[in-house]
Amino acid sequence: MTAGSPRTESLSSGSAAGQKPILPGATLGVLGSGQLGRMFALAARQLGYRVHVLSPDDDTPTGQVADVEESCSYFDLQRVVAFAKKVDVLTFEFENVPAETIAAVEGLLPVRPGGHVLATTQHRLREKNFLQQAGLPVTPFASVTSEDELRSAVEQLGTPAVLKTAAWGYDGKGQVLIHRPEEIPHAWQFLGTQAAVLEAFVDFSRELSVVAARGLDGSFAAYGPIENHHHRHILDLSIYPAELPLRASDEAIQIARSVLEALNVVGVLCVEFFLERSGKLLINELAPRPHNSGHLTIDACATCQFEQQVRAVCGLPLGSTRLLRPAAMANLLGDLWSGGPPHWEAALAMPEVKLHLYGKREPRPGRKMGHLTALGDTPAAAAKVAIAAREALRPSAGG
Ligand code: AMP
Repeated sequence: MTAGSPRTESLSSGSAAGQKPILPGATLGVLGSGQLGRMFALAARQLGYRVHVLSPDDDTPTGQVADVEESCSYFDLQRVVAFAKKVDVLTFEFENVPAETIAAVEGLLPVRPGGHVLATTQHRLREKNFLQQAGLPVTPFASVTSEDELRSAVEQLGTPAVLKTAAWGYDGKGQVLIHRPEEIPHAWQFLGTQAAVLEAFVDFSRELSVVAARGLDGSFAAYGPIENHHHRHILDLSIYPAELPLRASDEAIQIARSVLEALNVVGVLCVEFFLERSGKLLINELAPRPHNSGHLTIDACATCQFEQQVRAVCGLPLGSTRLLRPAAMANLLGDLWSGGPPHWEAALAMPEVKLHLYGKREPRPGRKMGHLTALGDTPAAAAKVAIAAREALRPSAGG
């Protein structure tokens, strides 16, 4: 909160009744300091807000564009509370913020989405149980806490199956594919955890996402479905709109709406789906924040996912999600730097390509350093340009 300003909001992210919007000029706090926070901060600044960020790191993608960067452990509750006292609302760009950290601040200011959303989505088993109880379609799964339980889970779900850690998994980390029952002891040792989930391997035809926002008054706006292609478990290419039968498209949006309503989200949440060959949609996982697949909304939509996050957490009306042109987004991973600095001019010379870099110094393999968005007359044309632009960046591409 800006010094001395009154705090009139109620304490939770519940209904809008009696809660005043947080207007431009106020200060937004964000926990987590990567590229999602950076793009949130840029959208917030465009709307005239100030942004404070807290994470254990310094000179971060978010910190570089924020008004204030606080570097401390999420467990340093004294500093976390002092940080919260200087902002008007708190949001996240990273869901693995410890529960204690949220508990320490939830009584002090609006936290959006609320701690209950993080608690559910930062733990695969809690998330899947929640979705199943809400009657939403999830990949068949079983909870696993020992090698014996893994054996019965494999009997129940069959092979192939994917064993995943219940907590702290992202971009395919903390996962192992089990092809045959003989691999069970090795898979259990490899994962090295006491809390895991076994999932049936889904023979999907597409991976899709819906990025959705829900306002303080229950209003809803969505982007998607977006078609996603992964490489080595990391998002590689997103294409919007996904070319799908209208029924599947409507159903994905409807499921996303049910998820945000059931979780009482105020903010942005992404639902990742598998589309089975039969046409059935299954939820793979939830991310309670803007999503990598939604980055193309910056260049392709009337209101982008980050501005939508600002509007939602500030209790303002949501913006139009209208798609202005078909688009595709190609991620730029650190691997691209292996032969030297990329040829930025080659991609920038392509008129319908936009370059976004996150200010990270060290281009490690697999690290998300930036992305390219290409616009086109059709989704396929945009995808072709995005791929060609990324190829043109390669130091070995000549020129
Ligand atoms: P995750 O981090 O759980 O989203 O997994 C990363 C990627 O691994 C997904 O986007 C899929 O490409 C693949 N994957 C994960 N779980 C499954 C599954 N149960 N069946 C098939 N592919 C999967």
